[in-house]
Amino acid sequence: MKIINLTTNSRVRVINNRTDVWNVLRTVVDSETQEDAFYICDIGEVVRKHKIWKILMPRVVPHYAVKCNDNRAILEVLAALGTGFDCASKAEINKVLSLGVDSDRIIFANPAKPASHIRHAALTGVNTMTFDNETELHKIKNFFPEAKLVVRIRCDAKVAQCQLGMKFGCDATTEAPYLLSVARDLGLDVVGVSFHVGSGCGEPDAFRRAIASSRTVFDYAATLGYNFNLLDIGGGYPGRREDTLEPIAKIINDSLDKYFPDPHVRVIAEPGRYYVTSAYTLACNIHSIRTIKTEDPITKEITSHYMYYINDGVYGSFNCILYDHQVVIPQPFKNCDGLELHSSSIWGPTCDGLDQVIEECMLPELKVGEWLIFEDMGAYTLPVASPFNGFPVPKVHIIADENTWDLLKGILPLREDHFIFGQTPANIRASLQNDDNSWIFPKLPITVSISK
Ligand code: PLP
Repeated sequence: MKIINLTTNSRVRVINNRTDVWNVLRTVVDSETQEDAFYICDIGEVVRKHKIWKILMPRVVPHYAVKCNDNRAILEVLAALGTGFDCASKAEINKVLSLGVDSDRIIFANPAKPASHIRHAALTGVNTMTFDNETELHKIKNFFPEAKLVVRIRCDAKVAQCQLGMKFGCDATTEAPYLLSVARDLGLDVVGVSFHVGSGCGEPDAFRRAIASSRTVFDYAATLGYNFNLLDIGGGYPGRREDTLEPIAKIINDSLDKYFPDPHVRVIAEPGRYYVTSAYTLACNIHSIRTIKTEDPITKEITSHYMYYINDGVYGSFNCILYDHQVVIPQPFKNCDGLELHSSSIWGPTCDGLDQVIEECMLPELKVGEWLIFEDMGAYTLPVASPFNGFPVPKVHIIADENTWDLLKGILPLREDHFIFGQTPANIRASLQNDDNSWIFPKLPITVSISK
């Protein structure tokens, strides 16, 4: 196994092609010295997603939505793969520019921006930005009159994990024409249309409606003398391992062919969760258990409900349950084939009653020190997590298989400080333990046995 330094604080472990995330988890869990919750981030997943995107939607240039997961290694890899970036604030702009990305690869896709952030965009040459209201046009006129503007219209998917239309997007037939005439009177340069059908879109046809509406706005703009050349089809693409991009991609491609056959119209998108959801796997340790016994008043049968307390909760990674309406699925790390299942609930580590991860699920009986694994945890988790009550946000340990490493080393400015270990689990474990990133701690036994 090699360790690559991407930057001082984001390191990638290169694993052999036959090793997968679950094998890496096993090496850590089997060591019985790891106690804190941790993530494994598989960069190969991000690369795989990018390849699929390029094959399925070659005309659409992805501008990764930084808000979704701003891990520096993820941003560096996406920058190297050639994506653009959707930034919503001054800090996100700075983060992307600090990677050496040109400002013209960034879209400032927040339709309601503080004035200081608009001034910052002007200062750093981030010229393209969205708007959906008249006040924004006047602010932009004051602080960045040369900006290239994109009018964001509203078109909500009937089914979405997180709707955005109640906050952003003007009506394409009533408000957009008015806003365009105000922009023209102010002498502003509007260059295109954007929309966001809703995050985690469950109704692919929403893209067809939104692209058709965008066409009407393009046509109206032409009557005012504008010559639009940018269509931004936003985010909304699902990203779990079980999801597929095909149905949405087909509708987008067909709609672009129908409504925007002119290849001079540049088409971009702002995918967030698509790129990162499946790349992150979270491992949580069970540190406490309460067993609630209930007697049936009639049959007198006693049933048990197990309350498992784990070391990450809704104030940490599982904030995604509250803010992103995610459904998380616990998988016991140990092999549970043939074990009896019991009514169980899963709770976070803080002293708040709200800190419940899963209200009711069926699990085999688990012990203190055992692990629960949650896949598909890369989107809208860590950027929002806090160390409330003194419980740390889990560390992220990044891996890439050798094929991914071969690709990345050709396109990333990497210093290959590599340690080469053999590829046996014992050597992987040794390398993790020697890592100055404090992968394994404390070096104390953490399993306890309870005599019944
Ligand atoms: N673009 C904008 C303006 C957003 O607000 C969001 C998410 O809220 C995204 C893109 C990313 O959306 P998703 O993660 O659904 O692709």
